[in-house]
Amino acid sequence: MANSLNRRDWLRQSALAVAGLTSAPAWLVAAPARQPLAYREFGPDFDPRTAPPTNIRARLSANENPWGPSDKTKQALIDSLGESNRYAFQQIWSLRTGMAEKDGVKVSYILPGAGSSELLAAGINAYAPKGKVLLADPCYISDGMLGNFPMEKIPLTADYQYDLDAMAAKVDPAVHSLVYICNPNNPTGAILPADKLRKFIDDVSPKVPILLDEAYIDYATDPTTASMVDKVKEGKNVIILRTFSKLYAFAGLRVGYALARPALLKVLEPFTQQGFGVSVPSAAAGLAALKDTEFQQMTLRKTAESKQFLLDTLKGLDYKPLDSSANFVLFPIKMKGPQFQSQMMKEGILVRHWYFDKQPWCRVSIGTMDEMKAFAEAFTKVVS
Ligand code: PLP
Repeated sequence: MANSLNRRDWLRQSALAVAGLTSAPAWLVAAPARQPLAYREFGPDFDPRTAPPTNIRARLSANENPWGPSDKTKQALIDSLGESNRYAFQQIWSLRTGMAEKDGVKVSYILPGAGSSELLAAGINAYAPKGKVLLADPCYISDGMLGNFPMEKIPLTADYQYDLDAMAAKVDPAVHSLVYICNPNNPTGAILPADKLRKFIDDVSPKVPILLDEAYIDYATDPTTASMVDKVKEGKNVIILRTFSKLYAFAGLRVGYALARPALLKVLEPFTQQGFGVSVPSAAAGLAALKDTEFQQMTLRKTAESKQFLLDTLKGLDYKPLDSSANFVLFPIKMKGPQFQSQMMKEGILVRHWYFDKQPWCRVSIGTMDEMKAFAEAFTKVVS
């Protein structure tokens, strides 16, 4: 139909209507924001209108959890299927309550979404019309995967850490409407010391709100690091984003949440499904996953084992992986990124490539030990 709207246009128009705007900023972020990245996983040559490749031996490109979903999660999914003819009012309330209990906040501080992508897109759509988003480069959304909204990029330090001093010096409420911090950072895996991040929040958040993406915080083992939930409890201008896609193995089930003062969640809400993006089975399973600490511990243990194998392999081949507090590892490669990714894909191994600091990089997600061995075999072949 000539005058039918595609999904992106529809989202843009409905978000604009909610925001009371009359014309669309060209960059307006379409949900689900995850989609373009999913296509990128299949390499530079992949055309999303064709079927995805079938020869995949190890999918190490999207930082998923290969050990799940847990048995308890699967049982909760099955048990809830019979209730799926109803909207998920009850299940979402229970899930919100579980999320709030985990973080020790009131239920009104929690806004669930269909993955954290829904809430991340909402944060950008809510704030970016009012000014630039200040962020580090590279970080999860600095390369345009969420669209090219107005942003100001602050390079990482020489040792690939967040340059919080430079960001704090730059931030200007007349220019910036939002600061985005990804901690641990994707794609580097670097994590900020808690005391430094707390000071940054104290200094910066009275001027400009901070969207703090803690997608990988569950993997952090360094005791000097921490979630910033305490800053939310203190009443700071911080919106924390969490996902169930990683530690809880929910990438395909789509559950995440924003945690912030109710007044801040209200800013995001018009750009979300207001909690109802989560289906009955996903909400029921999410509640089970929150409580399944046995599965979480098993995942952390196996992630550490596979990561050690990967690091040993890379170092043995004279590559220099960065320290990672997440379920992926980044290292510089000695050939062009797209060519490397394509050659790895021909071997059935999906990885991602980056380019920054004048060199190409590969990011490998942590998989099962068998997947890491398949990676090691293919990598040795491709680079030799
Ligand atoms: N934030 C970061 C830093 C991520 O790496 C990802 C996914 O890889 C997301 C958010 C989105 O996660 P999801 O929408 O699956 O919850």
